[in-house]
Order: sequence, then C-alpha cells, then structure tokens
Amino acid sequence: MSGNPGAKHGSVGRARVLVVGGGLAGLEFASALAGHGVGDIMVLEAGPGEDLDHIHRAYSRERASEMVFAPEGDPHFHRPWSSRTQPHYTGISGLRRRLGGRSLYWHGVILPLEDWALREPWWPADVVADLTTGHRGGPSLYDRVTADLLEWSGGPAGEDGGAGARRFGGQSFRPLPRACRAVPGTDRWEAYTPLEGWRGADGRVAPPAGIGVRCGTDVLAVDVRDGRARGVVVRDGAGGTETIAADTVVLCAGTVESTRLAVQALTVAGVLREPRLGGLADHIVQGFVVRLPAGGPPPGSYYVPTSPATRSYLRMDVTPDGPGSCLLDVRITGEQLPDERSVVECRPAADFPWPARVRSGLRPEDRRLVAAQREVLRDFWRAAAPEVGVLARPLEFTAFGDADRDNTRVLPGRTRRQPVGRPETWTSLLGTEDHEGGSLPLGRVLTSRHEFVGLPGLYAAGPAVFPRLGAANPSLTTIALSRRLAAALAAESR
Ligand SMILES: Cc1cc2nc3c(=O)[nH]c(=O)nc-3n(C[C@H](O)[C@H](O)[C@H](O)COP(=O)(O)OP(=O)(O)OC[C@H]3O[C@@H](n4cnc5c(N)ncnc54)[C@H](O)[C@@H]3O)c2cc1C
Repeated sequence: MSGNPGAKHGSVGRARVLVVGGGLAGLEFASALAGHGVGDIMVLEAGPGEDLDHIHRAYSRERASEMVFAPEGDPHFHRPWSSRTQPHYTGISGLRRRLGGRSLYWHGVILPLEDWALREPWWPADVVADLTTGHRGGPSLYDRVTADLLEWSGGPAGEDGGAGARRFGGQSFRPLPRACRAVPGTDRWEAYTPLEGWRGADGRVAPPAGIGVRCGTDVLAVDVRDGRARGVVVRDGAGGTETIAADTVVLCAGTVESTRLAVQALTVAGVLREPRLGGLADHIVQGFVVRLPAGGPPPGSYYVPTSPATRSYLRMDVTPDGPGSCLLDVRITGEQLPDERSVVECRPAADFPWPARVRSGLRPEDRRLVAAQREVLRDFWRAAAPEVGVLARPLEFTAFGDADRDNTRVLPGRTRRQPVGRPETWTSLLGTEDHEGGSLPLGRVLTSRHEFVGLPGLYAAGPAVFPRLGAANPSLTTIALSRRLAAALAAESR
C-alpha cells in the first residue's frame, strides 16, 4: 500500500475502524490497534504521504526552525479555522497537513502530567489509574511508554546524550527527557513518530498488516444516522463527496479539526444545543533568549520540574553558537485553565465542512500565572547572569498577546543579530505552542473510554480529550491514551 495523494488503497468504501487524521494520535492508535490483532483499519489523512522524515532529519537546524516559526515556507502548513480573538490562534497556529502530522515536527519532550492536574474531578479516576498506577495487569501506561520511547532514543536523555543535572541561576536543572535520537553521520536528529513502523524498504509508506491508509483525503463530516456514527463523508478527487462506512470512527484530526467534526456530528444528532464546544486551552509560555560568552552550562536541554504554586515548569536549552559563545533559550510553560468560554464554534451551513471559529482568552487566574512566571524568569536571570560574567539587564516584558514579541523571536535570523548578554523576551500567543487541547474532555463530552456521550460509534484521541492540560507537554499522554483506547477497543472486539 502507498500513501500517494488522492490514491485509494485497501478496503475503500467500508472499514471496520476509520481513523480520521494520520498524525501523532491517529497513527499511534492505528498501530496499537493492529498490534492487538484487529484488522480492517483505515487511516484517512488530508495531506500527502510521500515524505516521512522528521523536519530535523530532513533539514538543517536553521531551516527546520524557519519552517516552524515562519510557516509560510512550509507547504504543509494549513489553518482550517479563523480566530475571533486575534492575534491568538493566528500566525504560526495551525496544522501540518501531511501523513505523520506534527509528529514530524515535534521536539520529543516527554513529561507526564502532574499529580495536581490529574486529580479528580477533572480527569476520570480509571484513566488516571491506567496512566499512573497500572494498565491491564501490567505497569502503568506512563512507565511503559516512557520506557519504549527512551529505548527508541537509545539513552535516557535522547538527543543530549545524557547531559547531567546541574545547578544554574539558583535552580536545580535536570536533563530534559526527550524521545529524540541523532541521525548517524550527520549533525541532525529526529524525534519519535509512530510512522517508525510504517516505512517500506523503498522509503515509501508501508503500513503494518491490518491497516490501510488513504492520503489526500479531506474528511468533511461524520456520517450520522439513526443516532449513531456510521462512517464519514470525504471529498473525492473530482470535487464531489463520497461516504465511507465503518463500525467505529475515531477523530484524530488535531484538536480544533476534531472538535469541528464533533460539533457538526453532535448538532446533527441533536445532542448539542448550540454548535460549539468549550474548554479549549493551550499552554501559557514565555521566556527569553540571550547569547552568552563561553563558560556557561554545557550544551543540552534541561528542566526544573513543575512547581504547583505557579503550575509551570522551567526549561533551558543551551546551543553552541560559534567560537566562544552559546545561545541560552529559557522558557517557562504553564497551564491555561479550562474555560467554557474558550471555544471551537461552527456556523451551520448547507454543506460540510461548516466554517470553524476559535475564541480563547485568559481568565484572571491565568493572568496571575503570567505575572508569576515573569517573576520566576527574572529571579533566574538575576542569578544566572553574574555566573557567566554578564550584566543582569532587567527582563522587560510587554502585555500578554503582543504579536510583536511572540515566540517567533527565537528565529535564527533574529537571534543571530543579538549582542552578547542582551536578553530578548517573548510571550507565546495562545494556540501557537501546538499544545492546544481540552475541547473534547474525557469524562464529560467523552466517556472515560473515549466514546462520545450520546453518539455511539464515535470516538476521539489526541490532546483534545484532556480534561485539563497541566503544565507538561502533551505528547507522552497523547501516545499513552491512544494505546489505552486501542487496548479497550481490541478487548471489546474479541
Ligand atoms: C514544532 C513543534 C514542536 C513540538 N514539540 C513537542 C514536544 O516536544 N513535546 C510534546 O509533547 N508535544 C510537542 N508538540 C506538539 C505535538 O506535536 C502535538 O500535540 C501532537 O502532534 C498533536 O497530535 P494530533 O494527532 O492531535 O495532531 P497532529 O499530529 O497535528 O495530527 C493531525 C492530523 O490530522 C490530519 N487532518 C486534519 N484535519 C483532517 C481532516 N479533515 N481530514 C483528514 N485528515 C485531517 C492532519 O493533516 C494531521 O496529519 C510540538 C509541535 C510542534 C509543531
């Protein structure tokens, strides 16, 4: 089987399980389900499937950063929504529409969600037990997935080759766990992707037994009839539509797209009164980048675990930057609290897809978190600067939501011009961390088995299903939950 755009492969027309979206969540789910011996799975991916390489394997560090932070240069960048609260959810906020999705862009940071975030009433107790205590008579999903990913990386600290813990700027940093590995014979690296088991000898897509893949296939809607999901409606190659039937449909199209598909389906099914779902959240992230003279911490990625007081964790990346200097990239990542007013909403129309709009903003608690994060960064810099012999110039931040000082400040073209010792601060706009989630929460919109309440046959996976985000990056949990859903559906099908 191959993934050429528009090409049809496998049992087109009907499948037992349809997976909408071939990104991190969808491919991990499909692979795990097939691994349990379930067959007749079809992955529907809107983008092409010829290039299966991670961007940091395919391109230089500089070019890969530009693809992320100047996405107009990435042919796969696509934003299928509009923002009602600009500049949030604009700029670099969007999908990378290709087989592999953002698993071919991510940095491989794998941290479990914090205990305080996983507490009830947010996360259902059975999901938390599977993630943290034990799953189906074996180790917890967090333990298993972390072990698998670190084994894939070839060492405990992935790309950094095991850089040790160190004290710097008054903080105790540990090596950041990353599912990354070096590409032999080059200065490049790649992060884990579930496509790992999908590459044929000729480099083309060759899905595991039991899985078909259809690329270039835009899913317009879930086919809802008689109160149940019966399949999906896709755009065909000739500009018309085609229905593909299935017993089970799993939405894995990224948070906003999966929510758009869910809003349509739940509205058609009469489950949703207004065509919108709330709870959309991203991480609140800010930081500074500074060029330092030699003598600072050795190159690597480090972090200070989350403080419950700030619901945030501190990260520092040190990169060699020419003779006698290095680039210090410091960021603090915190939780945007779930908020029913932060929504994905649709405008019902005669045809699918219904246009999707996003609305999001900070609650007063989030604003306090922004201020607390800035204090952590200032304290850190005040202590760190003298350690490397530079003046601790004060960190000046502008108002949250200033599009002129967002995370694109770390583009190589900008940092290259920075004089040694002068820090440049930045604050991400909401929706631009690629960590958006929370709009299809387990235990509320979904059962704790990922099925939509009131719409049997329809499931979802990905960060969309997190009841709250915590501060940790989402993908360790995304992978764990995709495997959990696969195990549950496989057990049912026996
Ligand atoms: C530069 C970068 C760095 C990151 N670093 C980290 C990190 O270090 N740690 C971490 O935890 N996370 C990280 N992330 C975030 C992580 O990559 C995402 O959270 C994750 O990929 C989301 O998984 P997903 O399957 O929900 O979405 P995606 O991976 O985006 O996959 C969605 C797929 O669905 C397809 N699709 C969308 N709509 C349709 C449709 N209508 N029909 C058919 N197909 C459709 C898309 O084309 C895409 O392939 C990073 C992201 C980026 C971009």
